[in-house]
Amino acid sequence: MKPKKLGVNTVCTHVGEIKDEQFKGAVSPLYMSSSYAYENVDIKRYPRYFNTPNQEALGKKVAALEHCEAGMIFGSGMAAVSTAMLAFLQSGDHVVVQKTIYGGTYNFIVEEFPKYGIEFDFTDGFSEKHFKAKIKSNTKVIYVETPSNPLMLITDLEMIANIAKRHNLVSMIDNTFASPINQNPALFGIDIVIHSATKYMGGHSDLCAGAVACSSEHMDRIWNLGKNLGGSLSDYTVWLLERSMKTMGIRVKAQNRNAKKIARWLDKHPLVERVYYPGLKSHPDHEIAKRQMKGYSGMLSFELIPTIHAESFMKALVLIKQTMSLAGVESTILSPVKTSHALLSPEERERQGISDGLLRFSVGIEDKSDLIADLEQAFESVTKKHIELL
Ligand SMILES: *Cc1c(COP(=O)(O)O)cnc(C)c1O
Repeated sequence: MKPKKLGVNTVCTHVGEIKDEQFKGAVSPLYMSSSYAYENVDIKRYPRYFNTPNQEALGKKVAALEHCEAGMIFGSGMAAVSTAMLAFLQSGDHVVVQKTIYGGTYNFIVEEFPKYGIEFDFTDGFSEKHFKAKIKSNTKVIYVETPSNPLMLITDLEMIANIAKRHNLVSMIDNTFASPINQNPALFGIDIVIHSATKYMGGHSDLCAGAVACSSEHMDRIWNLGKNLGGSLSDYTVWLLERSMKTMGIRVKAQNRNAKKIARWLDKHPLVERVYYPGLKSHPDHEIAKRQMKGYSGMLSFELIPTIHAESFMKALVLIKQTMSLAGVESTILSPVKTSHALLSPEERERQGISDGLLRFSVGIEDKSDLIADLEQAFESVTKKHIELL
């Protein structure tokens, strides 16, 4: 059976699985060996070479999900990001980076690249002219993330791929917020697709991992640096991630459905100023999202009206947990001002449109009626307190 012909849920469940020849068990056996025979074999197997049976098997699943030739699993999303970027950049090179990206990636670039003599520029916006304006004669890589945190702004993938081709750049995307279920950037011509597998791929808030998918040619370069940097994932976690990914299709589709309904409900709520969800027609990038996404993901943000204290609202939630990170089966909420964007100055936050009343909501798989009931009781509780104070 050819992986490309299979439906996405079948790919999630089966592609790459290791046959248990010995006992005929239903799932991939876990090979924990860190020592393999080297005589009469072409490939020396070793966990740090990213080629143990379980690492290779899961790489195939990631490749199939992203419609790429090759897939590789890393010890974290940042191991995937850093290895992929450094594989295509060296001293004297320049990279164009999208304005709003994951904080860890931002820190990696601004703290580490100067040490290696790698130049970088962040764009001033998300459109073609913003990206083109930053390209220089030594630019080698163009790096984007879409949807981006926390306003779920969308970058046009086809536009980025075209710029990359015209200027002979390697295009890279952090596809974490979309997941491979909702967006396959390689189909739009993007070269390197990166995931923090800690999020939708893992999906249960219980592991940390990363993944990359691309052509075999690009992967050879990433692998070569990867084995030197050493950011591989333990086979036990690889095996756990394989188990998690079997349900990724049904999990993410349930999260898409819940998020769309909750976004619409919040959009009509009198105590909500604005909702940022690419699936809403009112989102500024809805049309681009519709073109390149199969689903709009479980991530959304909303802004409370100024008289409501965001902290008190979150504290009043019972079912929806106040925790960091995202994309688990359980719904979680956080304040970007207090967490991911806490280190930015108030002026910079205002420039980026991140207000004190903004909340980022990672919608889980719970029944949407229970999630809405939880939000409603929290709204009632804060308005009651507000009235008591008057
Ligand atoms: C979490 C995250 C990362 C980093 O992944 P880790 O697994 O924490 O290293 C990168 N990009 C995005 C968009 C993320 O959400």
